Amino acid sequence: MAIDPSHDADARAVWTARLLDLSFPVVGALAATVLTSGTAPIVVIGGVAGALVRVVWSGATPLRKGAAKAVPAVPRRASALDLAAALPVPLILIDGAGRVRMANPAAETLLQRRVSGQDISLVFRSPSLLSAVEEALRGGPETRFDFRVHRPREMILSATITPLTPDTEGARLALVLRDVSDRSLVAEARSDFVANASHELRTPLAAISGLVETLQGPARDDPAAQERFLGMIAKQTTRMTRLVNDLLSLSRIEADENILPGSEQNLADILRDALAAVRPLAEEGGAHLDVALPDTAVAVRGSRHELTQVFINLIENAIKYAGASGPIHVSAQITDTDAVVTVADSGPGIEAEHIPRLTERFFRVDPEDRNAKSGTGLGLAIVKHIINRHRGGLEITSKPEAGAVFTVSLPLIAPEPR
Ligand code: ADP
Repeated sequence: MAIDPSHDADARAVWTARLLDLSFPVVGALAATVLTSGTAPIVVIGGVAGALVRVVWSGATPLRKGAAKAVPAVPRRASALDLAAALPVPLILIDGAGRVRMANPAAETLLQRRVSGQDISLVFRSPSLLSAVEEALRGGPETRFDFRVHRPREMILSATITPLTPDTEGARLALVLRDVSDRSLVAEARSDFVANASHELRTPLAAISGLVETLQGPARDDPAAQERFLGMIAKQTTRMTRLVNDLLSLSRIEADENILPGSEQNLADILRDALAAVRPLAEEGGAHLDVALPDTAVAVRGSRHELTQVFINLIENAIKYAGASGPIHVSAQITDTDAVVTVADSGPGIEAEHIPRLTERFFRVDPEDRNAKSGTGLGLAIVKHIINRHRGGLEITSKPEAGAVFTVSLPLIAPEPR
């Protein structure tokens, strides 16, 4: 049977016009959401367009099958609800009584349950969402805000509530949802980081400015006090320089975390470099380093500079926190697949509850101790990021008063046959 392509085109045009007419308020609501949200507009607009095409195409299908010249039977009218169901964006339509007229599959996937027909106050407990729905039902304008849900898991959702005028198939409001939990966590982590970094820099700055004031005032004619205060300023400056250097290292390493550093290194040489760098600190702190390295080369892939930094940080910590308590053992072994380096001390150790937090930025078990040990709280965060970048592992074990053991494993380039 011949098919007149112009019929297909005509039918599709008629359906497009009908559907656009029918679903204008819902599509309008989504378009407004997209335009004001600024996130992934192409995906959402693509989804809307895709949904339109799917519904239009399915509406036109009877014509394709019908006689070429016959007047087509009018197929089922595609409704705005069909369109809403086809959208890839979580959308809940709410009727004038505050009940869910329909929730599309994307919304039910997000909420992990069926909610159609339920009162909106049974679907969400959030007071801000419920009062925004009430306000919109009373004729209020479109609103956008974030709110927290606890079911099916802890999430932060961004909501846009748009009044549909006129009512569309019994729906008075369109509630478009977006899971922004990741964005909120990242924003939270970023603002914590900025607050911590500023606080860490402000402490030595405040000390320096106090010392300068004293030098300009009471200590103006006291050479001995001047000498002492200048020494204190130098110490605080060193502390700030260290903090800024650590912050810069961390941001550089974080930026490259997904790139595996390429060149082949001998891990034994890297450990010797790290030991040479920390020896003056060990001597100053009266710490004894007990070293056991393999005589053969230990081939790993990585950045010499970064891996040296890992072992400097671990051995420096052992010296700082446990130096006087007994020998610090630094050893390297080879397994079938990995090079395994252990830095073990016999110091005060770390309570089990603190161990999972040690690699967080700025975490210190005893924040009051910072001046005594002059740590930045960034050393182990740097260690963790470098090891991640090298596809390695870090294990920390410790018992209070029984020392701490930091074990780093790095993939060997050519695993030793057994
Ligand atoms: P810091 O610059 O303060 O040393 P790190 O990130 O290197 O920062 O270490 C975080 C915290 O972990 C330290 O403040 C300290 O409380 C604890 N810590 C690290 N290494 C040891 C160790 N060998 N023994 C006991 N505590 C340690």
